[in-house]
Amino acid sequence: MLRNRLESIEARINDACRRAGRKREEVTLIAVSKTKPAEMVEEVYGAGIRCFGENKVQELSEKYEKLPKDIHWHMIGHLQRNKVKSVVGIAELIHSVDSLRLADAIDKEAQKKGIRAKILIEVNMAREDSKFGIMPEEALDFVKEAAKLTNIQVQGLMTIAPFVADPEENRKYFSALRKLSVDISKEKVNNVCMGVLSMGMTNDFEVAIEEGATMVRIGTAIFGERNYAV
Ligand SMILES: *Cc1c(COP(=O)(O)O)cnc(C)c1O
Repeated sequence: MLRNRLESIEARINDACRRAGRKREEVTLIAVSKTKPAEMVEEVYGAGIRCFGENKVQELSEKYEKLPKDIHWHMIGHLQRNKVKSVVGIAELIHSVDSLRLADAIDKEAQKKGIRAKILIEVNMAREDSKFGIMPEEALDFVKEAAKLTNIQVQGLMTIAPFVADPEENRKYFSALRKLSVDISKEKVNNVCMGVLSMGMTNDFEVAIEEGATMVRIGTAIFGERNYAV
């Protein structure tokens, strides 16, 4: 069942790439396995997927311990500074950096571990009160400040678009995030690269790919609905 779902998502990613005149290799599929058991992750792993996304530190750590070491883990959820220790060195990319204090904590932890942590800046493109992320107009200054931290590297931008019935409604946010990333690259800030655009989920990943997403984070369409009640 998971294999069939994956095949259908793969076909949809391919079609979206073709429509946009992009190569399939430009888009990384991150399978969002939050709330789902390790056995399901193994099944998706067996189908060839190597990038998985989690939004809770505890769950990320547990799955990291249990599952094959060649999995690339992506931290996509809001991160508290006191939990940074359990993420740096485990997550290949932290998508959800939304404050300089958090960036600073990640930098310090990366220095301790002797690594360079890769991060994305989360931008609240739709200015929703319910969401984390910095405002678009703050992004450039934020990136310039984060660039001073030598044990982290800003690799791009991430956004979580609103939950909408028609994915077309989110096209403007995706295209604006892409424009923002282009504007920031033009500034040629040292130690900053804007190669990654993490945008698009189950409901809107095709539109996000058409607008330039390089990483799509897909949970429900692969693993099925999540049950938070249990
Ligand atoms: C849960 C989650 C996703 C996946 O959402 P689906 O709609 O299930 O595809 C993507 N990104 C973030 C940040 C998430 O928390």
